[in-house]
Amino acid sequence: MVNVCITVGIEENASSLKTLSLKSYHRLSRDILGYYRLGAISVATGILRNYRKAERKNPRTRVPFARKLMLTTCYGFKIQNNLLRLPVKPRHYVYVKLNSHTLRALSGFDVRSVTLTPVSISISYSRETVEIKPEGYVGIDRNLDNVTTASTDETVRRFDLSKATEIKADYRVVKSRFNRNDARIRTRVFSKFGEKQRNRVQPLLHKVSKNIVAEAKTKQYGIVMEKLTGIRRLYRTGNFQGRNYRARMNSWSYGELQRQIEYKARWEGVRVTYVPPRNTSKRCSICGYKTLESTHRRLWCPKCGTILDRDENAARNIAAGGLRFSPNGPPGEAMVEEREPKNSTLILKVDGGKLSQQT
Ligand SMILES: [Zn+2]
Repeated sequence: MVNVCITVGIEENASSLKTLSLKSYHRLSRDILGYYRLGAISVATGILRNYRKAERKNPRTRVPFARKLMLTTCYGFKIQNNLLRLPVKPRHYVYVKLNSHTLRALSGFDVRSVTLTPVSISISYSRETVEIKPEGYVGIDRNLDNVTTASTDETVRRFDLSKATEIKADYRVVKSRFNRNDARIRTRVFSKFGEKQRNRVQPLLHKVSKNIVAEAKTKQYGIVMEKLTGIRRLYRTGNFQGRNYRARMNSWSYGELQRQIEYKARWEGVRVTYVPPRNTSKRCSICGYKTLESTHRRLWCPKCGTILDRDENAARNIAAGGLRFSPNGPPGEAMVEEREPKNSTLILKVDGGKLSQQT
């Protein structure tokens, strides 16, 4: 059905959900329930939208063709007596038995949609959350082999993720040894590797994100992270970093960790703020002055004379960023920070467990 809709959309040059519905709905088989037909149209709309975007950049983009078997529905299904009931035709259903873990997870929540693939069923559910007003902040900094968090109460935690880097590096080597000249087989083999790699890395990331969110939740803190857009630009060719370093830095999935932290935090009502990644690693988290590199991943601040741990310093700066950029924070300060006027320096002080600032 999706492919029929894509064809219609391209023939009729329709890309909005409404026009595509009008043009293609009657072309879809009447034997299929109305909401499944609408679902197919909405999936096709998404694919067409991406296609148009790609086509604008490259006119030779191939016409899309959906291959994955998938069914998503927000209507018609029901969960009762440990069974998920999906309609096939009017008054004709298939039943899927749900295990006790699934039922426990779903109890008390609004079930929104069901997605069926040849190998899985995903059930999405929602609940209303109230955002906790943060009493402090946890800053999260990503590094080559770890994630470091620093809170406004001066707790610093380091989560070792060297295992994730290793796994990814292993697969990189395995992939680089693949030298059969057959694109189709390569795609298939690589996607298999990708899946295996994800299956091994994902649990490591889940453990870390769960921990971070749990800490923020118990302390009633907000979470501050660096905005990801453009971060990859820091690690690409021509930056004198070496191929291997770049590959390692780009490879471990900070984006995935961020995604997990964000959705887990939202579910718990923990506020998530993003700050621009500029200067977070260089500036002294105590006085705001530009630091100098010292040995063993340490920094030395020429102004206040402190020797700081690099990762810790960055995480602290990020946490402080949440303080400055929070919507309830004092206005104008962010501007001062951005422009860096010569006669006024922003001073961040840590005393009595609280970050304060002076200009
Ligand atoms: Zn300093």
